Amino acid sequence: MKIEDLGEFGLIKRLTKILKIKDSSVVVGFGDDCSCVNISGQLVLFTSDIQIEGRHFVKNLISPQDLGWRVVSVNVSDIVACGGKPRWGFISVSVPPELDFEYIEQIYTGMEKACRYYKMDIIGGNTSSSEIIILDLFLTGITERFVPRGGATEGDYILLSGYTGLSRAGMELLKMKKDSYEDFEERLIKNHTTPVARIDIADRINKFASSCIDISDGLAGDLSHILHSSRAKAVLYREKLPVSQDLKSFCRKYSKDCLNYILFGGEDYQLIFTVKEEHISYFSDCFVIGRIEEGSGIFLKEGNNIKKVPEKGYQHL
Ligand code: MG
Ligand code: MG
Repeated sequence: MKIEDLGEFGLIKRLTKILKIKDSSVVVGFGDDCSCVNISGQLVLFTSDIQIEGRHFVKNLISPQDLGWRVVSVNVSDIVACGGKPRWGFISVSVPPELDFEYIEQIYTGMEKACRYYKMDIIGGNTSSSEIIILDLFLTGITERFVPRGGATEGDYILLSGYTGLSRAGMELLKMKKDSYEDFEERLIKNHTTPVARIDIADRINKFASSCIDISDGLAGDLSHILHSSRAKAVLYREKLPVSQDLKSFCRKYSKDCLNYILFGGEDYQLIFTVKEEHISYFSDCFVIGRIEEGSGIFLKEGNNIKKVPEKGYQHL
């Protein structure tokens, strides 16, 4: 069998069966945004995320500093999604030997900028050579409570920490390689090149979220992970899905369907999470977009109309 026949999640399922976790201090293993270990009473989070040239970024479409910022941010996002704060990172870098030193120096400058912003340190790593640029960050964090994907229960409200679909629009704009961009287009591009993990609401996620995930693959795709782990169904309200002014301008200018970007556009690194009714007031800066019900799948409600949403990343409805 070929790996491509299994798909990403099928592959993960088969591989993780081979590795048996024997240590009883492991609180959470495979299958969430982070793993979690209880070290003498302190919950420690572990995560890693990779940026591969040609797969996650195109070298001449992102500055090396932004790339450094990005690899740190996407990892911090997973720590925050589990209710934690980032602490110590290890960076593995593989680059073509003929790459200019200044380029990799700029990547590190971007990583340092991100470390200062997120109040963490990169304390070690590894370097090697390859035909393309590969950045792999292993990040640890600490938390008082592990916020899982699987904690959503019937009646919980579904909240979104910010607008989605912006990064996808930004990436498409970058690929147009235009000589000049309008202001709103520049902002969308920035959403794609320099995403900011939602460390600003980490404390509240830790205290009040019953489940949480960060949006890397798209609102629908990532929400479906919460639903599978929680064995629950989501009903989203069409009129409550937030549409940013910049995305509206983009969709008007290029004749695109906003809903498609909001539900299926990835890499926004916003958080989608669930809370009990009595805790909603703590999140007045977030959007309440739906409810958790008994059942399975994602449904979109518009007036009296209700339709099933495909649980996938970016695609056309
Ligand atoms: Mg994640
Ligand atoms: Mg991730």
